[in-house]
Amino acid sequence: MSSPGDRPRAKPRLSDTYERYALGLARREPRPPPLPANAVPKGGRDARPPASTAPLPAPSRPARPSAPLAARLKRLGVKGWPRRRTFHTRAIPAGCRPCLEGRASTLVVTTLCNRDCFFCFNPRPRADALSVHGRRARSAAEAAALLEGLGIESVGVSGGEPLLFPVRTMKLVRALRRGVEGLRIDVYTNGDLLTPALLRGLKAAGVDSLRLNLAANGYGPGPARLALGWFPDLAVEIPVIPADERKIWRLALGLEEAGVRHLILHELFCSAQNADALGRRGLAAPLPAGRGAGRLTWSGVPASADACLRLVAKAAEAGLRLGLYYCSTGTQQWIAEKALRRPAPGPAGPGRGR
Ligand code: SF4
Repeated sequence: MSSPGDRPRAKPRLSDTYERYALGLARREPRPPPLPANAVPKGGRDARPPASTAPLPAPSRPARPSAPLAARLKRLGVKGWPRRRTFHTRAIPAGCRPCLEGRASTLVVTTLCNRDCFFCFNPRPRADALSVHGRRARSAAEAAALLEGLGIESVGVSGGEPLLFPVRTMKLVRALRRGVEGLRIDVYTNGDLLTPALLRGLKAAGVDSLRLNLAANGYGPGPARLALGWFPDLAVEIPVIPADERKIWRLALGLEEAGVRHLILHELFCSAQNADALGRRGLAAPLPAGRGAGRLTWSGVPASADACLRLVAKAAEAGLRLGLYYCSTGTQQWIAEKALRRPAPGPAGPGRGR
């Protein structure tokens, strides 16, 4: 729990953005949520250029794997929830379990990044501001109080690239440790800036594990090898670009050799922020101008979903100790629906343990 000195006077309410985000995923015609506070540039909301000329397709129920692929996954003993396109070859990473129950959230340290990945769906222009599930926080203590109010069990400290600001990130992690009892904390990073000193600092601050997006560096396993000494349960978490399927398989073999335990695959998400870039690569249909900009909802790229399933099947066939976990847009929709069904935390307390 927060120490009295750390608490802002008024307890922040449940984030509207959290609810709208969940609604957007759960309903066929989502209402557009307001822009995240950290996406508003100088000059106000009206000064923000449209994020994309392409509207977003309405979220839809994900298609199940084809019958032969479903049979292959079953024969290989791959576990999961086929209806939700959620599959895993080994144990699901510890940080994913609360998330699957709709009891996880994201804290964005900054949306600034040292990379500019075409698939990135963070708001543009990038902004250096702290937010909790899309809601602006002015301090580490306020971020902790917001999370406590959401009644969650696990948080991804993310970006942008949070390790552009290592001191700020560690201060946040310490505030979360003090402020939210029993919270699981994973730091999401592209791994470029990791050093032994920084890894030591993150561990000492109270980080439970790392999530490394190695798609950003072209699938080099170096950051994972380095970080294993401090975070043996780390996970590599990447979007699957269909044209990179072979490179991703080579990465999986490199991670297996290094002793990494988890590789989490997402299908490419097409959002207002990346729809143009995906469209230029033939990964998303070009759509008429105007609609969709600023929505937080997304839809999966079908070719990417198929590549995810093939990689999962291949890992099971090869008997890799590295666990592959396919967390799809179907999984995300499921999570959002669960989160939405939960009662909002009451004004008197965070509602933990409900
Ligand atoms: S490294 Fe991550 S946050 Fe940075 S541009 Fe790439 S996807 Fe976006």
